[in-house]
Amino acid sequence: MDDATFCPPDLTAFCRLDDLGLVVVGQRVTAAGAVLVCRVVAGPEDGFCRRCGAHGLVRDCVTRRLAHEPFGWRPTTLLVRVRRYRCGGCAHVWRQDTLAAAEPRSRLSRAALRWALVALVVQHLTIARVATALGVAWDTANDAVLAEGHRVLISDPTRFDAVNVIGVDEHVWRHTRHGDKYVTVVIDLIPVRDGVGPARLLDMVAGRSKQVFATWLAARPKAWAAGIEVVAMDGFTGFKTAAAEELPAAVAVMDPFHVVRLAGDALDRSRRRIQQELHGHRGLAGDPLYRARRTLHTGVDLLTERQVARLEALFAGDEHLQVEAT
Ligand SMILES: [Zn+2]
Repeated sequence: MDDATFCPPDLTAFCRLDDLGLVVVGQRVTAAGAVLVCRVVAGPEDGFCRRCGAHGLVRDCVTRRLAHEPFGWRPTTLLVRVRRYRCGGCAHVWRQDTLAAAEPRSRLSRAALRWALVALVVQHLTIARVATALGVAWDTANDAVLAEGHRVLISDPTRFDAVNVIGVDEHVWRHTRHGDKYVTVVIDLIPVRDGVGPARLLDMVAGRSKQVFATWLAARPKAWAAGIEVVAMDGFTGFKTAAAEELPAAVAVMDPFHVVRLAGDALDRSRRRIQQELHGHRGLAGDPLYRARRTLHTGVDLLTERQVARLEALFAGDEHLQVEAT
């Protein structure tokens, strides 16, 4: 490794705060979370009155609290010291500009919002887990993600252009008995197919049903729908039926996340069935099939030598042939 490619440790850069116009000036790190004190990188116009243009004097500082993206799953909170100025000419009072760090009145930094959207849409995290990772209340995370999704979508009216590979999936949105429990999320999978980045959010619709997806597809321009070549989805048959009706030219495929999960479930069912047939009881700590249950799910290229030896011993005879085949 070449030492010349390293530079001194820099918490501001590590936490991607330079993008937000902030500099870390203090830290308090505990097991429960990290709190970073930041100051705002002053812009050239910060000290000048926005009414009369006269020079302002620093009056005091206020602290703005922002949830930031978690590092190593540790909630990271920013305490941003924002200067307040008073105009020497007209007595107008104003604050330093923090628009680069967060939307006005937002409790999440821009990086936290981006992190939350990706966590929800690409990583399939629930709002509850997103909220825990950010160290904020469920409602705060929910409102922020909805608003950001909306903002990202509305600010880009051309988002459907040139999209011919889409994914559709349902997410558990809320864990209350009121309102719709599910939201249907439609994503653009071209960046994933081309290996250039994560999926792009196209739309979010309340509810999960064949009707929800069919209505959404029917509302798209005819030319766009006709150009869709692939629709990736989970096993929910409603989406498949809707796609078949509204996008007859498109091929419906299972997305890799769900293929892996279904294959894993099939493997477990096969293992349990053979276990019952051979031993007449469910797997116990001493049973070789039961002991190998996790190793069986591990990719061949990730197995340790010990795991390889264990699997070879397991499949040495014919009695576990069906599990081996699965
Ligand atoms: Zn003034």
